[in-house]
Parts: sequence; structure tokens; C-alpha cells
Amino acid sequence: MLKVQKNYGYQRKAEEDMTTNHNKKSIRKEIYVTAFMFLIFFAGMIAYFVRFLVVDADSFIYNSYNSRFSVFADDVERGSIYTADGRAIAKTTKNEEGNEVRVYPDERLFSHAVGYVDHGMAGLEANYSFDLLKSHITLSDQINNSLTGQKSMGDSLYTTLDYETQKAAYDGLGMFDGAVIAIDPDTGKIISMVSKPDYNPNTIDKYWDDINDTEKGDSALLNRATNGSYPPGSTFKIVTTLAYLRDGNSPSDFFYKCSGKFDVDDYTIHCSGNKSHGQEDLLTAFSNSCNSAYASMGVEIDREKFQSTAEDLLFNDTLPTLISGTKASKFAINSDTKESIVAQTAIGQGRTTVSPLHMCMLVSAIANNGQLMEPYIADRIISDDGKVVSETEPVSYGSIITASEANLLNQYMEAVVTDGTAEKVDFGDLKVYGKTGTAEYTENKKITHSWFVGYAKDENGKKLAVAVIMEGAGYGSKYAAPLAASVFKAYFEK
Ligand SMILES: [Zn+2]
Repeated sequence: MLKVQKNYGYQRKAEEDMTTNHNKKSIRKEIYVTAFMFLIFFAGMIAYFVRFLVVDADSFIYNSYNSRFSVFADDVERGSIYTADGRAIAKTTKNEEGNEVRVYPDERLFSHAVGYVDHGMAGLEANYSFDLLKSHITLSDQINNSLTGQKSMGDSLYTTLDYETQKAAYDGLGMFDGAVIAIDPDTGKIISMVSKPDYNPNTIDKYWDDINDTEKGDSALLNRATNGSYPPGSTFKIVTTLAYLRDGNSPSDFFYKCSGKFDVDDYTIHCSGNKSHGQEDLLTAFSNSCNSAYASMGVEIDREKFQSTAEDLLFNDTLPTLISGTKASKFAINSDTKESIVAQTAIGQGRTTVSPLHMCMLVSAIANNGQLMEPYIADRIISDDGKVVSETEPVSYGSIITASEANLLNQYMEAVVTDGTAEKVDFGDLKVYGKTGTAEYTENKKITHSWFVGYAKDENGKKLAVAVIMEGAGYGSKYAAPLAASVFKAYFEK
């Protein structure tokens, strides 16, 4: 007790000290907390500004519904878009009132590829808006422009498109609706991309309501090359052939005697023009495009294998390309699918749909020993003073077809041109490998889409793959294949 009293003074002193210390500590703590909060606040501010500059500014520029080109358009003049051979296909000029206007010198020729900047954006104008509104001229030039109130010139986009090839594709399609797409199989470069009906990007504002008139129903804004959904017709026999081989068959296993028709369930599949092709092996069934042979082959293929082969060839999947928003092709059969539907599927009718881009990718892979190069259209970004800002390197998706399968399909596709459905087409001196297609798409079987998919090779080994579809035109051999021939000639003879 005494000990406690004796110690009381110390204890009190200690308690006073503790109180003082406590007060000091709490003041210090408040300072720390305040400093910490300021730190958090500043970090937040910095993060906000960085986010605005790096993320939001990008999404703001990329937002295709900005009424103006972008905030940067105040300081930078939107750069031009060029073909691979240096022709300006979109550029900024000034009108009589001195206002900036976007001009497309070739009008409709590149409409779906290049796109537009009125009423939102589309095509390359939308996808590369950010790059076209950035300037990589020297900093001193930029500062100088800023001080003198002038805009700096934005970077330019060089595409992979070739003017002459594009023109041949566009003119060849003529009045028909449809699409043409051409790809360099070794790199994936898109050499031409045409879709009709089209629009004039110079006057899109004036005719916007008319273009979007749903009652007219021609969907002129739709890029049919990348987003069209078509029945593949006989071009699909490429896929059926691969499914037959992957189901454990060898090419020499196949024999068929064609009488001009094939009965399945209560349905009859006819050969084109009710022609009897007689005795055939796999090569002649392919080059004659014999529907009866392929219908009989289709019902024999294991359905899971048929489905998995189609999916290995990128059906029911996003296509591996550097072009945004492409349409997936559809293929579906299962154990419940009626035999008559499977037979129609095998000849490219039924429920299967494809885009021209997908078919072009398929033949590109065949042309490239099975290896698929991912298609792209934007080749490089160049500053106004000529520096390369960025450049696209070709990307391999890997092999979707084995080299031996590609070799076999090459022989069959060559036979189509030398002895088969496309033998009368004048391809000049080029070595051409292809498949024609005539696709029914209405109950009236007389109205058909005309297809050709294939590739050409010159004596130096340079190649070009194409997919052509002409809506409602008729036989593939009569319309789409000659158009492919003029596209090949434009590309190789330049
Ligand atoms: Zn036949």
C-alpha cells in the first residue's frame, strides 16, 4: 500500500507525461492522416488525368458518334489514307468557306474499305481515327505551328489495297450486288475489298436517310465482303472433301457413278443441269462439281467429324483477322439432323452460311501450304515528314490444313480450271486453282448466286487469293470466275 502511495507521484507524473505524449501523438497522427489523405487525393488526381489522357482521350477519339472528329482536331488536321501504291483515297481539304472537309477522290470505289466520318464513322476512318488525328512531325514544328495558330498535319495511313486490282474488282461486279475480296496468301495483305450496293462517302450526309431506308432493304452500308452471310454453294465442297479425308478415308477410296441425281429421304438432289457425270473418282467429282457424288459422300461422313472439320476451318468462330467486326460463318449438323439436310449441307446448301472473307482465307491457307496468315488492311502509319510511326508485321495463325491436304486440294482445284467447271474461263498465262459455286438461296431454284474462290500464281511464285460472289447472277463459271480472272490479270499485269 505504502509502496503504491510512494509510487503515486511517479505514477501521476507518468500519467501526465502519457497524456502529453498522447496529445503530441494524436497531433502527429492527424498530421500524418492529413498528409496521407492529401497524398491519396493527389494520386487520385494524377490517376484521373492520366486516365483521361491515355484511356478516355482514346475512347473519346475512337467513339464513332462524336459530332466533331475529336478534341485533337483543333490542333491536328486529319491525315490522309492511301492505297499501297500511294494514291490518296481519303484526304482533308478546305472548301470555299475555308472549312475543313473530308474528301474521297475515288468516290464509291473504296467506300466500304475506307468508310466515312459523317453520321458516326465506319471502316478505316473509324478504326484508325486516333492515328489519323495524331501528329508525329518534329516537336519544334508542332510548337511552331501552335504558336502561329496553325494546325499540325496528322499522320497518314497506308493501306495494303492496290488501286488497279480494286478497280478491276469494282468494275467487274458492275451492276450486281455482292462482294469481291482478294488477299496475298503469303502475308495476309488484303489487296482488294469491294462490296455492292455501295455509297459515295462524299455525299453520305446528303443521302443518309435514303441510304438507311429499310424499306428499300439493300443495306448499302453493310460490308458484304467481311459481313455478308451467304450460302456457299459448291465452294463448300472444299470443306466436305477435307471432312471426308479427316474421317479416315484416302482419296483413292472414293468412287461414284453419277446418274444426274441422288435420292435421300423424300428429297432428290440434282446435278447441275441434270447432267449425268458417269463414273467418277474424288478428283473428277470435285472438278465436275458433281452434286450427287458429294451428297452421297456427305451422308457417309461421321457427323461429329464433319462438324469438327468445319470448326477447325474456323466455322462458328470469330475469324482471326486484324479487321474489326467480321461475321462468323455458321455450320451445324448433329446426330438428329435429317439425312436430306446433311446431303444438302455437303453441297453447300442447307443452313450453312459463309462470308466472302472466310472463303478467301480458306483458299489463302490452301495456297500457302495450309498455313493461314491473318488478313489485314492497314499496312503502316507515316508522319507528315515521312517517318514510319508504326508498321504491321504479317502474323501467322498457324496451319488449319495440313501440307498434304493442301497439296491434294491444289491438284483438285487445278483440275477445275484445266478440265472442270471453269475450263472455258480465260485466265491468261496464269496458273489458277479454284472452285466455282452456284448457290440457291430462294425457293425459286432458278435464281442463284454466282461464286468463285481460288488463287492464281505467276512464274515468280507470287500469289493472289480471291473470293467473288455475285448475287442472283447465275452460274459461277459464267460470271464469278471471269470476274476473278480480270482481278488476277489486273494484279499480276501491273
Ligand atoms: Zn453428277
